Amino acid sequence: MTPQKVDICFIVAMRAEANGIIKELSLKEDETFASSYPARAWKGKFNKKCIAVVINGQDNRHKLDLIGTQAATLSTHLAITHYNPGLVISAGTAGAFKEMGANIGDVFLSWPYVVYHDRRVEIPGWDEMGIGRYPVFDVREMAQQLGLKTAIVTSGNSLDMPETDEKTIRKLNAGIKEMEAAAVAWVCSLNRTPVFCIKSVTDLVDVDHPTHQQFQTNLKMAVTNLCAETLKVLAFLTDKQ
Ligand code: SAH
Repeated sequence: MTPQKVDICFIVAMRAEANGIIKELSLKEDETFASSYPARAWKGKFNKKCIAVVINGQDNRHKLDLIGTQAATLSTHLAITHYNPGLVISAGTAGAFKEMGANIGDVFLSWPYVVYHDRRVEIPGWDEMGIGRYPVFDVREMAQQLGLKTAIVTSGNSLDMPETDEKTIRKLNAGIKEMEAAAVAWVCSLNRTPVFCIKSVTDLVDVDHPTHQQFQTNLKMAVTNLCAETLKVLAFLTDKQ
């Protein structure tokens, strides 16, 4: 299929995380997108720029949103193949560290890179490849002007944080923990497509309260904040261009 050029493409794991952005921008579902895979896409305009939102879609058997790095890899590949975007933004929710000053509902941009925290291979060279350390689009000016915090974003395939993951996350000095960004950034790096993340905090990973309970309680508020800040980010990016 001939790729259709999109200026900015969001890759989002869960439908609930994407709904606000789709609604605010009045995006329309693109029925031509990836029909044999669960991923789904919506398209529209913002400030004369073509914007797409791609979500991972649902698992056929469990009828739940696909989360994690496998689904994110596939969605990003499909999005880049179909839309050839000028910029990719990995958007969604995440955990953060209270002791680093994060609060529930804070919205972070990724800087200066995105890493993996659960690909442990203790052999020189392979250890660094496991971590990934994918560079991201320079968001520093945008973060400063919009008053957004920045952090190293780290991805893994579990919602919990066992001690071994925590040790790695601390060693990498990562402030935002989620399950997709590094996969999105890897596929973007293969295509030389600039990428960064916008992540809204649903849970604090260094408090006693269980992560999944925090996630469910705070999802709605975090997604509202994600949507509001995403609109500001889009205004900033499209004005600059
Ligand atoms: N859908 C489930 C929970 C999914 S949470 C439910 O409704 O209960 C996992 C999703 O939120 C992933 O897409 C991940 O990127 C993000 N996330 C939020 N907080 C996280 C954390 N502390 N650790 C890892 N992923 C987190």
